[in-house]
Amino acid sequence: MNNEEMFSRLVENAFDFLFKAISEIEGQPKYSVIHFYAAVELFVKARLMKEHWSLVISQRQEADWDKFIVGDFQSVTLTEAANKLRKIVRSGLAKAELDAFKEVANDRNKMVHFFHEAHSEEESGKFKRDIVKKQLKAWFFLHQLLIAKWKKEFSSWDDKIAELDEKLRRLHEFLQVIFDNLKPQIEENKKKGIQYDECPSCGFEAQELCEDENTIYEAKCLVCGLAEKSLNIQQCPECGETVTLKEEGFGQCQSCGKHLEPEDVAGALIDSGAAHIAAMEGDDSWGEGNCSDCDGYHTVVRTENDEWICASCFGVFESLEACGWCNELNTGDMEDSYVAGCNHCDGMADWHKDD
Ligand SMILES: [Zn+2]
Ligand SMILES: [Zn+2]
Ligand SMILES: [Zn+2]
Ligand SMILES: [Zn+2]
Repeated sequence: MNNEEMFSRLVENAFDFLFKAISEIEGQPKYSVIHFYAAVELFVKARLMKEHWSLVISQRQEADWDKFIVGDFQSVTLTEAANKLRKIVRSGLAKAELDAFKEVANDRNKMVHFFHEAHSEEESGKFKRDIVKKQLKAWFFLHQLLIAKWKKEFSSWDDKIAELDEKLRRLHEFLQVIFDNLKPQIEENKKKGIQYDECPSCGFEAQELCEDENTIYEAKCLVCGLAEKSLNIQQCPECGETVTLKEEGFGQCQSCGKHLEPEDVAGALIDSGAAHIAAMEGDDSWGEGNCSDCDGYHTVVRTENDEWICASCFGVFESLEACGWCNELNTGDMEDSYVAGCNHCDGMADWHKDD
C-alpha cells in the first residue's frame, strides 16, 4: 500500500458516502446527514493526504505509517484540517466554505446525540428541507473546490463529480414548496423593480439583488439562504450598462458579454473626481492600495461611499495604512512593516540581508 493508493481509497470512500447520503434523504434523513458529513470530511482529508499522509493524523498523536495504513490512528478534526490546509498546504478554505462545512458538522453531531423522530408529516417535511438546504450549500462549495482550486488533485474523478453534481442538484425538488410559497412575494417585488438571479446553489430564481451601486452587499437566496458578496457597478466599460458581479472581480457583463477583470472593476469603482483633486493637493490617501487578503496589487480603491473595496476579492475596509518601508497603501496590519515589509515588499530586514 502506498500513499497514492491510500489517497484513492479515501476519495472513493468519500464518493460512496455522498451517493449514499443522497439516496437516504427521503427515507432515512438522519443517516443522510451522518453520511454526508463523513463525505465532506473525507474530501478535506484527501486533499491533506495528497500533500502528505501524516497531515491526516491529529496533532495529539505521533505519525506512524504502519498504524496509518491499518486505520489505527486518531484523525484531524475539520477545524484542524482547515488550519493545516491554510498553513501547510497553502490552499486554505474560505470563510464561507468552512462555515458551510461546519453547519453540516453541527447537524451531524445533533443527529448522533440528540436525534428524535419527527412527530408529524409537517415536522418531517421541514426537517428534510432544512437538511437539503445545508447539503446543497455545502456541495456548492465542495464542488467548486473539486473542480477549481483542487482540480489537479481530483481530476481523475471528473465524471463522478459531474454525476454527483447532477444528482445533488435534483434535490432542489425538496425546496420547491418554499419557492412556491415565496413566489407571489417575488412577483410583487419584481414589479417594483427588484431583480432576482438564479441561485447557484439551489437553482431557483430567488437570489435577491440590491440596487445600490459601487458598494459590496450580500445577495441572499430567499429559498436556501446562500449569500454571495455582490457588487453592482454603474457602467460596463464596453456598453455602459449596469453590471452585477459576484464574489470576485472576475465576471461578465450581463448586457454585452464583456469579460471584466479586477482592473476594470477598480477603474469603475474609484471615485476619480475626489482622487484627482486629492492628488493635486498632495493628499496621497486616495491612491490605490494593495490587498493582503488576496495579494492583489493596486486592487484596493476608495469609493464615493468613502470605503475601500478590493476589486479582486471584494474585501471592504474602513481605512488603509501605508507600509513603513515601501510606502504603498495596504489592507494588512502595517505596524512592523518598516522592518518586516508588506506582502509586496520585504522591508528593511531584506535590504540589509547581504551586508
Ligand atoms: Zn438558493
Ligand atoms: Zn457591457
Ligand atoms: Zn483582495
Ligand atoms: Zn511594503
